[in-house]
Amino acid sequence: MSEVETDMRLKIFALAGIVAAAAAAPTSAEEPATYDGPVIDMHLHAYTADGNGPPGTPLCPELSEFAWDGQGSWIEHFGAKVLSRPCLKPIAGSLTDEALRDETITEMRRLKVRGLLGGSEERVADWMQAAPDLFWPARHLNPQRDPETTPESLAADFAAGEIVAIAEITGQYSGIMVDDPRMEPFWSMAEREGIPVGVHIGLGPPGAVHMYPSFRAQSPSHLAEVLGKHPKLRVFVMHGGYPYIDDLKALLWVHPDLMIDIAVLQFALPRAEFHAFLAELVRAGFGDRIMFGSDQMNWPGAIGLGIEAVNEADYLTYDQKKAILHDNAARFLRLDADGKLPD
Ligand SMILES: [Zn+2]
Repeated sequence: MSEVETDMRLKIFALAGIVAAAAAAPTSAEEPATYDGPVIDMHLHAYTADGNGPPGTPLCPELSEFAWDGQGSWIEHFGAKVLSRPCLKPIAGSLTDEALRDETITEMRRLKVRGLLGGSEERVADWMQAAPDLFWPARHLNPQRDPETTPESLAADFAAGEIVAIAEITGQYSGIMVDDPRMEPFWSMAEREGIPVGVHIGLGPPGAVHMYPSFRAQSPSHLAEVLGKHPKLRVFVMHGGYPYIDDLKALLWVHPDLMIDIAVLQFALPRAEFHAFLAELVRAGFGDRIMFGSDQMNWPGAIGLGIEAVNEADYLTYDQKKAILHDNAARFLRLDADGKLPD
């Protein structure tokens, strides 16, 4: 047997080994299609029942094809003709603040969800008290609207264990982009203290400028200088920075610790568009950078709808669904094997 022949044989044996190993591994046909293990929701709000119209206003998912002739009030048009237009599967709105809290908790227990809960200090404390095992407390931040929330107050709250993250940061609604000089003291502090931050980037509600006059759409590229200057900042781009997918890919490529959530996209976008966005990110190799978020505001059913939307993605393997619905957030939050935050 020549050396070449031996070499060939070894290669064939090695290949046969790979084939045998592949045959022994579970095939995709045997894989469960639905992930029903524990879920982490990175985008929950301790909201009020009247957060999107009068309490009980239902949500008809997929806010597409909204056109307006510019007459009258966009907010009224949006509420009646877009948000709660008649549809087959509306999501019920809660009738009171207490019902909103309790129905959200019930939905989370049913679906084995824990989540990062953003909101005002009082409301987050109230929800935490009702279900301390379900929530990690976070604090909203918009320097324009909450002038009393300072880098110092947030650092103190984090040190005291009252918050584990700053989210959602919504300066964009007041025209304060993430690279605005007014944000810089917050980034410096969060980087120094190691506080995770979740930043609203991308769009807002349809017609946002008629609700928040200073609102402008924001590309994730506004984060480039922030992350260049603060490479240790633990940040996730909320709403995946939709629709700026090229800018997002560039940022994810340059910053391997940058994460995103896909909150609101499951119910705000036409479902095919949501899947096109998610599939493109996974295809580009960023499946381990995507975290589930519901953006539950005053419709507790939005949590289940969001999980279902990920599970119906036939282009994802079971492990990819598990990563998006749980594992990626556990890694970002640095949870231990028992699912607890580090001390
Ligand atoms: Zn948001």
